[in-house]
Parts: sequence; C-alpha cells; structure tokens
Amino acid sequence: MKKADSEFIKGRIAPCGLHCGKCFAFADGDISYHSNELKRSLGNFDVYAQRFVAMLDEPVFAKYPDFKEFLDHLSVATCQGCRKEKCKLFKTCNVRACSEEKQVDFCFQCSQFPCENTGFDEHLYKRFVTINRRMQEIGVEKYYEEVRNIPRY
Ligand code: SF4
Ligand code: SF4
Repeated sequence: MKKADSEFIKGRIAPCGLHCGKCFAFADGDISYHSNELKRSLGNFDVYAQRFVAMLDEPVFAKYPDFKEFLDHLSVATCQGCRKEKCKLFKTCNVRACSEEKQVDFCFQCSQFPCENTGFDEHLYKRFVTINRRMQEIGVEKYYEEVRNIPRY
C-alpha cells in the first residue's frame, strides 16, 4: 500500500491526535463510504424486510426501518476534518485554535504538552495523552500506519 504523505496525514489526524479519517462524521471517511456502498447493495430492501418477518419467521427484519434511518444518517457525513472546520463532536475542544496559536501541527510538538487547555473530558483527555505520546515515540508517519486500518471507536 502506498505511503501517505504528511499533508494527507494532517488532513486525517487532528492536532489532538484523533483520527478524523475514521470518524463517522468525516465526509471522505471509511464509515461514510461503506454506508453508501451498503445502501447501494440493499436497494429496495424495505419491501423485502417486511415480507421476511413472516416468510422467514425472523422478527429481526421488522427492525429494518430503524437500521435504514441510521444507515442514511451515516451515509451523509459532511465534515472536512478538524483542520478545515470546527469539530462537530467535541464542542468544547480548544486544541485546534490553540495549536494554531502555538504553531504546532500536533500537540506533542508543543512545549506545554500535556497541558490542561484541551477542553476535553477525562476519557478524551486520556486518549489525547496516549496518542500524542505514541506519536512522539514513533513519529507521525509511523503512527498513521499503525492506525490507518483500525477503527477509532
Ligand atoms: S473534526 Fe471532529 S467531527 Fe470532524 S471528522 Fe474530525 S473528529 Fe469527526
Ligand atoms: S497548549 Fe495544549 S492544546 Fe495547546 S497546542 Fe499545546 S498541548 Fe496542544
């Protein structure tokens, strides 16, 4: 597989280290892509799901409308990533603006890391520290290779 260049990586890994490329809200992400593919493969499954409830005696097919609604939601992801727009998930995040002010691409490059300025809750803060320590240890490109094919959830 072709190695990603640093600008591509910056478009996918936010300054805090989270992988935007694997976020459900990322327009060019795997989740959105596969949701659209699954929608295409399912076609007019709505009609069949109703029939399958009785025909196959499998009540799980009655849940299809909720599944479809959620799949539709995942398939219309619009976020361009943290460096291009405000994060839709973490409304209290201070990291992007702060990293621009400090002129660093990633927080581990900042002299104040790990700081108390992120605006993250405890769970996210722990991830932020772990991810940035890992990037510091092996470098951004190797870190991206480690996470490019695994879910972030
Ligand atoms: S900026 Fe936030 S909402 Fe957008 S892709 Fe990154 S983590 Fe997801
Ligand atoms: S002060 Fe904290 S949030 Fe801001 S760039 Fe440095 S490490 Fe990141």
